[in-house]
Amino acid sequence: MTPLHADLSRVRDTLLQGHSFLLTSHARPDGDSLGSQLALAGALQQLGKQVRIINSDPAPALYAFLPDMSTIEIAAAVEDPFDAVVVLECSTLSRPGVAGLKGRLLINIDHHADNVMYGDINWHDVSACACAEMVFELIEALGAHLTPALATHLYVAILTDTGSFRHAHITARTFEICRRVAETGVDAAGVAAQVYNNSSLGRLRLTGMLLDQMQLEHDQRIAVLTLNDAMLAEAGCDSDDLEGIVNLPLAARDVRAVIFLKETDDGLRVSLRSKDAVDVRQVAVSFGGGGHLNAAGFTVEHPTPETRGQMIAHVATAITDSDT
Ligand code: 5GP
Ligand code: MN
Repeated sequence: MTPLHADLSRVRDTLLQGHSFLLTSHARPDGDSLGSQLALAGALQQLGKQVRIINSDPAPALYAFLPDMSTIEIAAAVEDPFDAVVVLECSTLSRPGVAGLKGRLLINIDHHADNVMYGDINWHDVSACACAEMVFELIEALGAHLTPALATHLYVAILTDTGSFRHAHITARTFEICRRVAETGVDAAGVAAQVYNNSSLGRLRLTGMLLDQMQLEHDQRIAVLTLNDAMLAEAGCDSDDLEGIVNLPLAARDVRAVIFLKETDDGLRVSLRSKDAVDVRQVAVSFGGGGHLNAAGFTVEHPTPETRGQMIAHVATAITDSDT
Protein backbone atom coordinates (compact mmCIF):
# COMPACT_ATOMS: atom_id res chain seq x y z
CA MET A 1 0.00 0.00 0.00
CA THR A 2 1.38 3.45 -0.85
CA PRO A 3 1.90 5.64 2.24
CA LEU A 4 -0.73 8.26 2.93
CA HIS A 5 -0.12 11.87 2.06
CA ALA A 6 0.92 13.74 5.24
CA ASP A 7 -2.09 16.08 5.18
CA LEU A 8 -4.49 13.21 4.59
CA SER A 9 -2.93 11.40 7.58
CA ARG A 10 -3.52 14.42 9.78
CA VAL A 11 -7.14 14.66 8.64
CA ARG A 12 -7.64 10.95 9.27
CA ASP A 13 -6.02 11.05 12.73
CA THR A 14 -8.04 14.07 13.80
CA LEU A 15 -11.28 12.44 12.68
CA LEU A 16 -10.41 9.13 14.34
CA GLN A 17 -9.57 10.88 17.63
CA GLY A 18 -12.60 13.22 17.77
CA HIS A 19 -16.18 12.28 18.42
CA SER A 20 -18.48 15.03 17.16
CA PHE A 21 -18.09 16.77 13.83
CA LEU A 22 -19.74 19.45 11.80
CA LEU A 23 -19.51 19.16 8.03
CA THR A 24 -20.21 22.11 5.79
CA SER A 25 -19.62 23.28 2.23
CA HIS A 26 -20.31 26.20 -0.04
CA ALA A 27 -23.48 28.23 -0.43
CA ARG A 28 -25.64 27.34 -3.45
CA PRO A 29 -24.62 23.67 -3.16
CA ASP A 30 -23.78 21.56 -6.20
CA GLY A 31 -23.39 17.84 -6.77
CA ASP A 32 -19.82 17.74 -5.50
CA SER A 33 -20.48 19.69 -2.31
CA LEU A 34 -23.55 17.58 -1.50
CA GLY A 35 -22.03 14.24 -2.45
CA SER A 36 -18.76 14.93 -0.62
CA GLN A 37 -20.51 15.97 2.59
CA LEU A 38 -22.99 13.09 2.58
CA ALA A 39 -20.36 10.46 1.80
CA LEU A 40 -18.01 11.66 4.53
CA ALA A 41 -20.89 11.91 7.00
CA GLY A 42 -21.90 8.33 6.24
CA ALA A 43 -18.34 7.08 6.69
CA LEU A 44 -17.93 8.87 10.02
CA GLN A 45 -21.25 7.50 11.25
CA GLN A 46 -20.07 3.98 10.43
CA LEU A 47 -17.22 4.65 12.86
CA GLY A 48 -19.68 5.67 15.57
CA LYS A 49 -19.07 9.42 15.29
CA GLN A 50 -21.71 12.08 15.75
CA VAL A 51 -22.05 14.12 12.58
CA ARG A 52 -24.16 17.06 11.53
CA ILE A 53 -24.18 18.68 8.09
CA ILE A 54 -25.11 22.37 8.01
CA ASN A 55 -25.39 24.38 4.79
CA SER A 56 -26.56 27.95 4.26
CA ASP A 57 -28.69 27.14 1.19
CA PRO A 58 -31.02 24.25 0.40
CA ALA A 59 -29.96 21.83 -2.32
CA PRO A 60 -31.40 22.09 -5.83
CA ALA A 61 -34.44 19.81 -6.11
CA LEU A 62 -32.76 17.58 -8.67
CA TYR A 63 -30.57 16.18 -5.88
CA ALA A 64 -33.53 15.16 -3.74
CA PHE A 65 -33.06 11.53 -4.83
CA LEU A 66 -29.69 11.28 -3.08
CA PRO A 67 -29.74 9.00 -0.02
CA ASP A 68 -29.80 10.82 3.34
CA MET A 69 -30.52 14.25 1.83
CA SER A 70 -32.96 14.95 4.66
CA THR A 71 -30.08 14.91 7.16
CA ILE A 72 -28.69 18.17 5.77
CA GLU A 73 -29.68 21.09 8.01
CA ILE A 74 -30.08 24.59 6.62
CA ALA A 75 -28.89 27.36 8.95
CA ALA A 76 -27.10 30.71 8.74
CA ALA A 77 -25.02 30.11 11.88
CA VAL A 78 -23.72 27.35 14.16
CA GLU A 79 -23.37 27.66 17.92
CA ASP A 80 -23.08 24.11 19.26
CA PRO A 81 -19.67 22.69 20.19
CA PHE A 82 -17.93 20.19 17.90
CA ASP A 83 -14.56 18.49 18.13
CA ALA A 84 -13.78 19.73 14.62
CA VAL A 85 -15.42 21.31 11.58
CA VAL A 86 -14.75 19.80 8.16
CA VAL A 87 -15.12 22.38 5.40
CA LEU A 88 -15.37 20.68 2.01
CA GLU A 89 -15.07 22.25 -1.44
CA CYS A 90 -14.46 25.82 -0.19
CA SER A 91 -11.53 28.00 -1.21
CA THR A 92 -12.24 30.48 1.59
CA LEU A 93 -14.02 30.31 4.94
CA SER A 94 -16.63 32.76 3.70
CA ARG A 95 -17.83 30.38 0.93
CA PRO A 96 -20.12 28.36 3.27
CA GLY A 97 -22.07 31.47 4.22
CA VAL A 98 -22.41 29.98 7.72
CA ALA A 99 -21.45 32.13 10.72
CA GLY A 100 -19.69 30.70 13.76
CA LEU A 101 -17.03 28.60 12.00
CA LYS A 102 -14.03 30.78 12.91
CA GLY A 103 -12.06 29.85 16.00
CA ARG A 104 -12.97 26.15 15.82
CA LEU A 105 -10.62 23.34 14.84
CA LEU A 106 -11.00 23.60 11.07
CA ILE A 107 -10.22 20.85 8.56
CA ASN A 108 -10.06 22.25 5.05
CA ILE A 109 -10.50 19.66 2.27
CA ASP A 110 -10.59 21.15 -1.21
CA HIS A 111 -9.49 20.85 -4.82
CA HIS A 112 -9.90 24.49 -5.93
CA ALA A 113 -6.68 26.16 -7.13
CA ASP A 114 -7.41 29.36 -5.21
CA ASN A 115 -7.75 27.81 -1.75
CA VAL A 116 -6.34 30.22 0.84
CA MET A 117 -5.46 27.50 3.42
CA TYR A 118 -7.73 28.81 6.17
CA GLY A 119 -7.79 25.51 8.07
CA ASP A 120 -5.85 24.27 11.07
CA ILE A 121 -5.35 21.25 8.83
CA ASN A 122 -5.32 21.89 5.10
CA TRP A 123 -5.55 19.01 2.67
CA HIS A 124 -5.50 20.55 -0.78
CA ASP A 125 -5.26 18.55 -3.99
CA VAL A 126 -5.83 20.45 -7.22
CA SER A 127 -5.32 17.25 -9.20
CA ALA A 128 -8.62 15.84 -7.89
CA CYS A 129 -11.41 15.97 -10.49
CA ALA A 130 -13.90 16.49 -7.65
CA CYS A 131 -13.63 16.98 -3.93
CA ALA A 132 -15.37 13.59 -3.75
CA GLU A 133 -12.22 11.99 -5.15
CA MET A 134 -10.43 13.17 -1.99
CA VAL A 135 -13.34 12.04 0.18
CA PHE A 136 -13.05 8.56 -1.33
CA GLU A 137 -9.40 8.40 -0.27
CA LEU A 138 -10.33 9.64 3.18
CA ILE A 139 -13.05 7.00 3.52
CA GLU A 140 -10.47 4.34 2.70
CA ALA A 141 -7.94 5.85 5.11
CA LEU A 142 -10.55 5.89 7.87
CA GLY A 143 -11.23 2.21 7.31
CA ALA A 144 -14.90 2.80 6.53
CA HIS A 145 -16.53 0.79 3.76
CA LEU A 146 -18.26 1.89 0.63
CA THR A 147 -22.00 1.26 0.98
CA PRO A 148 -24.34 1.71 -2.00
CA ALA A 149 -25.48 5.01 -0.44
CA LEU A 150 -21.94 6.36 -0.07
CA ALA A 151 -21.05 5.13 -3.54
CA THR A 152 -24.07 6.99 -4.96
CA HIS A 153 -22.96 10.20 -3.22
CA LEU A 154 -19.46 9.90 -4.63
CA TYR A 155 -20.64 9.02 -8.11
CA VAL A 156 -23.04 11.97 -8.35
CA ALA A 157 -20.27 14.29 -7.18
CA ILE A 158 -17.82 12.98 -9.78
CA LEU A 159 -20.39 12.80 -12.58
CA THR A 160 -21.50 16.41 -12.08
CA ASP A 161 -18.14 18.02 -11.20
CA THR A 162 -16.49 16.56 -14.29
CA GLY A 163 -19.38 17.73 -16.49
CA SER A 164 -20.20 14.08 -17.23
CA PHE A 165 -16.56 13.11 -17.64
CA ARG A 166 -15.62 15.96 -19.93
CA HIS A 167 -13.56 18.36 -17.78
CA ALA A 168 -9.89 18.41 -16.83
CA HIS A 169 -8.34 16.29 -14.06
CA ILE A 170 -10.06 13.06 -15.09
CA THR A 171 -7.47 10.37 -14.44
CA ALA A 172 -7.09 6.67 -13.85
CA ARG A 173 -7.94 7.39 -10.20
CA THR A 174 -11.29 8.83 -11.27
CA PHE A 175 -12.22 5.65 -13.10
CA GLU A 176 -10.83 3.46 -10.33
CA ILE A 177 -13.26 5.15 -7.92
CA CYS A 178 -16.07 4.70 -10.43
CA ARG A 179 -15.15 1.02 -10.73
CA ARG A 180 -15.43 0.67 -6.97
CA VAL A 181 -18.73 2.56 -7.08
CA ALA A 182 -20.09 0.19 -9.73
CA GLU A 183 -18.97 -2.78 -7.64
CA THR A 184 -21.36 -1.73 -4.89
CA GLY A 185 -24.21 -2.06 -7.37
CA VAL A 186 -24.85 1.60 -8.13
CA ASP A 187 -26.85 1.92 -11.35
CA ALA A 188 -24.79 4.56 -13.17
CA ALA A 189 -27.34 4.99 -15.98
CA GLY A 190 -30.14 5.38 -13.44
CA VAL A 191 -28.20 8.02 -11.53
CA ALA A 192 -27.42 9.90 -14.76
CA ALA A 193 -31.10 9.82 -15.71
CA GLN A 194 -32.02 11.29 -12.30
CA VAL A 195 -29.53 14.09 -12.77
CA TYR A 196 -29.93 14.85 -16.46
CA ASN A 197 -33.35 13.61 -17.66
CA ASN A 198 -35.39 14.96 -14.84
CA SER A 199 -35.79 18.65 -15.56
CA SER A 200 -38.98 20.66 -15.73
CA LEU A 201 -40.58 21.80 -18.97
CA GLY A 202 -39.99 25.29 -17.61
CA ARG A 203 -36.27 24.69 -17.82
CA LEU A 204 -36.62 23.62 -21.43
CA ARG A 205 -38.55 26.82 -22.19
CA LEU A 206 -35.97 28.92 -20.36
CA THR A 207 -33.14 27.26 -22.30
CA GLY A 208 -34.88 28.25 -25.51
CA MET A 209 -35.28 31.85 -24.34
CA LEU A 210 -31.66 32.14 -23.20
CA LEU A 211 -30.23 30.71 -26.42
CA ASP A 212 -32.60 32.83 -28.50
CA GLN A 213 -31.20 35.95 -26.83
CA MET A 214 -27.59 34.76 -26.75
CA GLN A 215 -25.09 37.37 -27.89
CA LEU A 216 -21.83 36.49 -29.58
CA GLU A 217 -18.76 38.66 -29.02
CA HIS A 218 -15.08 38.65 -29.94
CA ASP A 219 -15.47 37.05 -33.35
CA GLN A 220 -18.09 34.57 -32.04
CA ARG A 221 -15.65 33.17 -29.52
CA ILE A 222 -17.49 34.50 -26.46
CA ALA A 223 -21.18 33.72 -25.86
CA VAL A 224 -23.06 35.98 -23.45
CA LEU A 225 -26.26 34.74 -21.83
CA THR A 226 -28.39 37.08 -19.73
CA LEU A 227 -31.06 36.07 -17.28
CA ASN A 228 -33.43 38.06 -15.09
CA ASP A 229 -36.37 37.27 -12.84
CA ALA A 230 -38.89 38.24 -15.51
CA MET A 231 -37.52 35.52 -17.81
CA LEU A 232 -37.70 32.95 -15.01
CA ALA A 233 -41.32 33.90 -14.36
CA GLU A 234 -42.22 33.78 -18.06
CA ALA A 235 -40.65 30.34 -18.44
CA GLY A 236 -42.33 29.17 -15.26
CA CYS A 237 -39.23 28.03 -13.40
CA ASP A 238 -36.89 29.13 -10.64
CA SER A 239 -33.15 29.35 -10.13
CA ASP A 240 -33.14 25.64 -9.23
CA ASP A 241 -33.66 24.94 -12.90
CA LEU A 242 -30.47 26.65 -14.05
CA GLU A 243 -27.91 23.95 -13.23
CA GLY A 244 -25.76 23.22 -16.28
CA ILE A 245 -27.45 25.64 -18.70
CA VAL A 246 -24.33 27.82 -18.66
CA ASN A 247 -22.39 25.09 -20.48
CA LEU A 248 -24.67 24.83 -23.52
CA PRO A 249 -22.94 27.39 -25.77
CA LEU A 250 -19.65 25.48 -25.43
CA ALA A 251 -21.19 22.80 -27.65
CA ALA A 252 -20.54 25.12 -30.61
CA ARG A 253 -17.08 24.69 -32.11
CA ASP A 254 -16.35 28.43 -32.36
CA VAL A 255 -17.36 29.32 -28.81
CA ARG A 256 -14.35 29.32 -26.45
CA ALA A 257 -15.96 30.88 -23.38
CA VAL A 258 -19.35 31.67 -21.90
CA ILE A 259 -20.35 34.62 -19.73
CA PHE A 260 -23.63 33.95 -17.96
CA LEU A 261 -25.12 37.06 -16.34
CA LYS A 262 -27.84 36.71 -13.72
CA GLU A 263 -29.42 39.98 -12.69
CA THR A 264 -30.41 39.64 -9.02
CA ASP A 265 -31.40 41.94 -6.15
CA ASP A 266 -27.86 41.59 -4.78
CA GLY A 267 -26.25 42.69 -8.04
CA LEU A 268 -24.96 40.86 -11.07
CA ARG A 269 -24.08 37.20 -10.45
CA VAL A 270 -21.62 36.04 -13.11
CA SER A 271 -20.75 32.47 -14.11
CA LEU A 272 -17.87 31.85 -16.49
CA ARG A 273 -17.15 28.68 -18.44
CA SER A 274 -14.43 27.95 -20.97
CA LYS A 275 -12.74 25.32 -23.06
CA ASP A 276 -9.18 24.01 -23.11
CA ALA A 277 -6.55 26.39 -21.73
CA VAL A 278 -8.79 29.48 -21.61
CA ASP A 279 -8.31 30.52 -17.98
CA VAL A 280 -11.55 32.06 -16.72
CA ARG A 281 -10.44 31.66 -13.11
CA GLN A 282 -8.03 34.56 -13.62
CA VAL A 283 -10.89 36.65 -14.99
CA ALA A 284 -13.04 35.83 -11.97
CA VAL A 285 -10.19 36.62 -9.58
CA SER A 286 -9.76 40.06 -11.13
CA PHE A 287 -13.43 40.72 -10.33
CA GLY A 288 -13.10 39.45 -6.74
CA GLY A 289 -14.29 35.88 -7.32
CA GLY A 290 -12.55 32.61 -8.08
CA GLY A 291 -12.98 29.04 -9.22
CA HIS A 292 -11.27 26.68 -11.62
CA LEU A 293 -9.51 27.09 -14.96
CA ASN A 294 -12.69 26.26 -16.93
CA ALA A 295 -15.44 27.17 -14.44
CA ALA A 296 -15.41 30.26 -12.28
CA GLY A 297 -17.69 32.92 -10.93
CA PHE A 298 -18.06 36.21 -9.13
CA THR A 299 -20.62 38.82 -8.10
CA VAL A 300 -20.65 42.48 -9.13
CA GLU A 301 -22.64 44.26 -6.43
CA HIS A 302 -23.00 47.55 -8.27
CA PRO A 303 -22.80 46.98 -12.02
CA THR A 304 -22.32 50.02 -14.27
CA PRO A 305 -22.98 50.39 -18.00
CA GLU A 306 -19.27 49.58 -18.53
CA THR A 307 -19.31 46.29 -16.57
CA ARG A 308 -20.37 44.07 -19.45
CA GLY A 309 -17.69 45.43 -21.79
CA GLN A 310 -15.02 45.05 -19.10
CA MET A 311 -15.90 41.41 -18.58
CA ILE A 312 -15.83 40.70 -22.31
CA ALA A 313 -12.43 42.40 -22.60
CA HIS A 314 -11.01 40.29 -19.77
CA VAL A 315 -12.35 37.05 -21.25
CA ALA A 316 -11.03 38.05 -24.70
CA THR A 317 -7.59 38.52 -23.16
CA ALA A 318 -7.82 35.07 -21.55
CA ILE A 319 -8.63 33.59 -24.97
CA THR A 320 -5.70 35.40 -26.59
CA ASP A 321 -3.36 34.30 -23.78
CA SER A 322 -4.42 30.68 -24.22
CA ASP A 323 -3.54 30.82 -27.91
CA THR A 324 0.04 31.97 -27.34
P1 5GP B 1 -20.84 28.71 -10.73
O1 5GP B 1 -20.67 29.43 -12.01
O2 5GP B 1 -21.35 27.33 -10.93
O3 5GP B 1 -21.58 29.50 -9.69
O4 5GP B 1 -19.37 28.55 -10.13
C1 5GP B 1 -18.38 27.85 -10.82
C2 5GP B 1 -17.18 27.68 -9.93
O5 5GP B 1 -16.61 28.94 -9.65
C3 5GP B 1 -17.53 27.09 -8.55
O6 5GP B 1 -17.27 25.72 -8.54
C4 5GP B 1 -16.62 27.81 -7.62
O7 5GP B 1 -15.43 27.11 -7.57
C5 5GP B 1 -16.28 29.10 -8.29
N1 5GP B 1 -16.97 30.30 -7.80
C6 5GP B 1 -18.19 30.75 -8.17
N2 5GP B 1 -18.48 31.89 -7.58
C7 5GP B 1 -17.44 32.20 -6.78
C8 5GP B 1 -17.16 33.30 -5.89
O8 5GP B 1 -17.93 34.23 -5.73
N3 5GP B 1 -15.96 33.24 -5.24
C9 5GP B 1 -15.07 32.21 -5.43
N4 5GP B 1 -13.91 32.24 -4.75
N5 5GP B 1 -15.31 31.19 -6.27
C10 5GP B 1 -16.47 31.17 -6.93
MN1 MN C 1 -15.86 20.43 -6.84
